[in-house]
Amino acid sequence: MDNYPEASNVIHSFTHSRIWIGKFSFWRKENGWIRDAKTQLSRMKVLRVALDVPVAKLFDYLIDDASPVVAGDRVVVPFGARQRVGVVAEVADTSTVAASRLKPVERVLEDAPRLTTGWLELMRFLSAYYQRPFGETVAAALPARLRSLKALPKRRKSGDKETSDAAHLFVSGHDPNPAQSGAIERIGAALGSFRPFLLHGITGSGKTEVYLRLIAQVLSRGMQALVLVPEIGLTPQLEGRFRHAFPGARIAVLHSALQDTARTHAWLDAARGDAPIVLGTRLAVLAPLPRLGIVVVDEEHDASFKQQEGLRYSGRDAAVLRAKFAACPVVLGSATPSLETWFNCRAGRYALLALPERAVPGARLPAVRTVDLRIESAEHGLAKPVLEAIRARLARGEQSLVFINRRGYAPVLSCEACGWAAGCARCSAHMVVHSTDRSLHCHHCGARQKVPRECPSCGNVDLRPLGRGTQRIEETLTALFPEARILRIDRDSTRKRSDLARTLEGIGRGEGDILVGTQLLAKGHDFPNLTLVCVLNADSALLSTDYRSAERLFATLSQVGGRSGRREQPGEVLVQTRYPGHPMFQALMRHDYAGFAESQLAERESAGFPPFVHEAALRAEATRLDATMTFLRAAARLIEVPDGVQIYDPVPHVITRRAGFERAQLLLQSPSRPALQEFLRLWSAALPASTSSGVRWHLDVDPIEFD
Ligand code: ADP
Ligand code: ZN
Ligand code: ZN
Repeated sequence: MDNYPEASNVIHSFTHSRIWIGKFSFWRKENGWIRDAKTQLSRMKVLRVALDVPVAKLFDYLIDDASPVVAGDRVVVPFGARQRVGVVAEVADTSTVAASRLKPVERVLEDAPRLTTGWLELMRFLSAYYQRPFGETVAAALPARLRSLKALPKRRKSGDKETSDAAHLFVSGHDPNPAQSGAIERIGAALGSFRPFLLHGITGSGKTEVYLRLIAQVLSRGMQALVLVPEIGLTPQLEGRFRHAFPGARIAVLHSALQDTARTHAWLDAARGDAPIVLGTRLAVLAPLPRLGIVVVDEEHDASFKQQEGLRYSGRDAAVLRAKFAACPVVLGSATPSLETWFNCRAGRYALLALPERAVPGARLPAVRTVDLRIESAEHGLAKPVLEAIRARLARGEQSLVFINRRGYAPVLSCEACGWAAGCARCSAHMVVHSTDRSLHCHHCGARQKVPRECPSCGNVDLRPLGRGTQRIEETLTALFPEARILRIDRDSTRKRSDLARTLEGIGRGEGDILVGTQLLAKGHDFPNLTLVCVLNADSALLSTDYRSAERLFATLSQVGGRSGRREQPGEVLVQTRYPGHPMFQALMRHDYAGFAESQLAERESAGFPPFVHEAALRAEATRLDATMTFLRAAARLIEVPDGVQIYDPVPHVITRRAGFERAQLLLQSPSRPALQEFLRLWSAALPASTSSGVRWHLDVDPIEFD
């Protein structure tokens, strides 16, 4: 610790009434400092403080032994030339460190509730498990305002409708059906103890009703509920249902798109226990809840629960841990659970509860059919049976959804004469043609340029867009069905989340005859008048080298298919494919998640993939690929690799260059999680600091994305 108070540092501390230099304390008097001979180090204690710096250690400061400060308090400390806000992780006595060289704490903050030991324990676990410094982990969990010297916003008064007696008011929607009652009973019986459940309910089976009733029980016990969803901006209906069901309760909504003040308010509502319900995306799992009584993770299979930068945590796994620390049940809900969760059920670690039927009487799952592209010609990307099905819906005044998971006009712009294709200068990827502004966009680094007038390679003016995205399908449909109202929904059509929410609500009320959209349309919306879903480019996922792509495609198609036929009219799903015999499609047609999951698990077991082994990835990037590869090769040999942990050769990413950096990774596997963890701990300590030699790197534990 090199915090010895030099003369320059003394000046910096003048605002305070007391300062230590070496062993001695000085009191401020009108015109100078008086040394307090009595104060010795024995009257001090040491605070070990977590600061948001990329160094894996705590920073030590002194404070008067009489101070009531404990772990979990926020403190202002001098750091370099500035003051910083940190969180006290431990309190130690002066004998444990070279205390005479330490600086004093400036002040202890009391404007927010003290962070509980349970919360600190969670942070410690996440920091160790995901191999990130503790200070950085804590910083990821705290809103920026709680890490800054700025005063916190004033505590919000309860709204008109929120009073403490009304907080438990529950407006029930429906009487639960037998399957729902069974689930409510089983989970309700576990309140007060840690128990993980998988609520495996098909789309529209009434999972949300189950959550609401359990939350009502939790609230009536005076406890709090934590509900995690993949995307809050996209599911205003869900938030609305919660507000409707609990009209007297304050609901803290937490997600990353919130402004700082709004996030701080919601976080403080959660931390003070003012909000009995906390509803949010993955980061909400890091909010302190002093009286946590149940954790719900809706659509638990969704990849967005995994954070892809900084602290690369799984919000779903953290939710289970959270429940464990709080000794409460956790409910993971999905129509298509992740294979990890399914595996945990099979192993008896999670209890399986099934909702096998749609909740609305008479509503059934849609009929799923493939359209064989080897037989049916698909002019302009849409096969004849698909066009006929859309026409029939138009005639009946029902809505159709055309799902294509690729935005833009066409994925490639190419020259007929010489074969040139527009590529990004900074990425090893094609530029995507966008028709709205006649330009080329790189979907990997965001670069944009005008569509060139002629081929830069041969001068030919006949440049052709190849393949299709949402914009091109919209154009085709407009030409084919001029009388129809066509709505395109993708990231380009709706810049702001609030606009998107409004559009989705409009669709729910029947606006739009044909919807063209990406994944954005697949998530959790209820469109009562939608009876047809057409899936256009499913095959690209089937051909992917990523072993998770079949699992993902099954989930996406079940989910997007689940948007149809949610009322009395039956729904239909048409999937255009060149591989109609593929087992994934066969399982999808039978709505057989369990069969699909079993066959996937068998494949994973024989190939030695998760969940049968545990994985971590070391990813690196540098401006030259040889530098990246040299770094990774050296890293693999840096320390001895124990038996039971395997490191594979470094492999460049599929899209190797992104934004000017050449990327590659090392994959690590082990059948033993503790063995892998122990190795990662030693290894990450031995690796040179990221960027030290022009190579940036990070570790990803339980990685799910390989590009
Ligand atoms: P999920 O979350 O499983 O997709 P929801 O909870 O959204 O399903 O329920 C789907 C639809 O069924 C909603 O319109 C909901 O109001 C309705 N619903 C839920 N439970 C029942 C029930 N027991 N009886 C009748 N309708 C129900
Ligand atoms: Zn050319
Ligand atoms: Zn690019």
